[in-house]
Order: sequence, then C-alpha cells, then structure tokens
Amino acid sequence: MRVHKDDLLGQLNNGWKHLMTNLNKERFSLAAQVTGAAQHALDVAVQYAKDRKQFGQPIGKFQVIQHKLADMQVAVHASRMLTYDLARRLDAKLDCRKEASIAKVYCAEAYHRVADEGMQILGGYSMTPDFPMERHYRDSRIMRIGGGSSEVMRTSIAKDLGL
Ligand SMILES: Cc1cc2nc3c(=O)[nH]c(=O)nc-3n(C[C@H](O)[C@H](O)[C@H](O)COP(=O)(O)OP(=O)(O)OC[C@H]3O[C@@H](n4cnc5c(N)ncnc54)[C@H](O)[C@@H]3O)c2cc1C
Repeated sequence: MRVHKDDLLGQLNNGWKHLMTNLNKERFSLAAQVTGAAQHALDVAVQYAKDRKQFGQPIGKFQVIQHKLADMQVAVHASRMLTYDLARRLDAKLDCRKEASIAKVYCAEAYHRVADEGMQILGGYSMTPDFPMERHYRDSRIMRIGGGSSEVMRTSIAKDLGL
C-alpha cells in the first residue's frame, strides 16, 4: 500500500525484519508472564501441601509430594534464568532469535508441567474454583499454542542449528 514517507514506520522494505524483532520481544514477554504464573502455581501447591492433612500428617511430609514440588521449583528456577538471560541479550541489542525461541518453548512447557503437577497435589480440590490451579492448568495449555506454538519454536531452534 502507498504510505506517505512521513508516516513510514521503520525502514522501507524491511517490514519482515522489524516484525521479527518484535517477535523476539513478544516471546520474551510471554516467557516472563508464564514464569511469574508458574511461580504462583508453585506457591499455591506448597501452601496446600503444608495445610492438607491425610493419614495424620500434612501431605507435604510424603516424599513423593516433596519430589514433585522440588521438580516444580527446578522448572520455575530454570524458566527464570532463561528469561533473565534473554532480557540481558535484548537490553544489549544482541541477536537473540534462538534464545527467544528457547525461552518461549521451555518456559511455556515448564509452566504446563508445574500446573499439571499442581493439579495432582491438590487432588480433587484442584478441579474447583476455590483454588486457582484449574485456571493455571487452562492458561498453561494455551501458552504452548499462542505466541508461536512449541512446534514452531523447535523448528526455529533447529534452523539456528543449521538444519
Ligand atoms: C488464547 C489465544 C490468544 C491468541 N492471541 C493472539 C494474538 O494476540 N495475536 C495473534 O496474532 N495471534 C494470537 N493467537 C493465535 C496464535 O498465535 C495461533 O493460534 C498459533 O500461532 C497457531 O496457529 P493456528 O491456531 O492457526 O494453528 P495451526 O497453524 O493450524 O497449527 C495447528 C498445529 O500444527 C502445528 N504446525 C503448524 N505449522 C507447522 C509447521 N510449519 N511445522 C510444524 N508444526 C506446525 C502447530 O504447532 C499446531 O500444533 C492466539 C491464540 C490463542 C489460543
């Protein structure tokens, strides 16, 4: 379409390049968003494991529950580190297409794993609106599709591996 030169955004005939730059920022903002959400899902699950008593003790005393929560903590921590690393690269204006795809796919899938285990820890209550876990579960499922699906992120990473 014809646009007056005073109304041109960015450089002429470089639209795709500008769009790609914004995709990196979108992937960063999604990684940050799901990392915060995953942290909340973990916090809810930890509190529930401390409060809920079965067989005479809080379920958080069962090693199987502790290990689930430990894995969730690992996932949240790794998500945070990938997000911080991407933020640093964006700030420094470094090329970060690969790192943006890595952060988006990892953090979105980590959030889904955290929400899934959170559902398991909350048991039957996880399905009720009394706790936010079912919301996390639904939200986390979408994050593997929107803003670049996990499949497309992997294709992008593979391209950066020269494949
Ligand atoms: C809640 C929500 C909010 C959204 N918000 C926005 C928004 O604000 N702005 C916006 O522009 N879009 C938005 N989207 C759209 C989103 O980006 C698309 O849904 C997503 O990119 C997938 O496209 P599609 O739905 O057409 O699925 P399809 O492209 O039909 O994909 C279907 C399946 O095939 C896979 N697939 C497709 N192509 C390939 C390929 N080349 N290689 C391997 N696998 C492939 C996909 O990964 C997926 O698993 C939103 C979607 C949702 C669910």
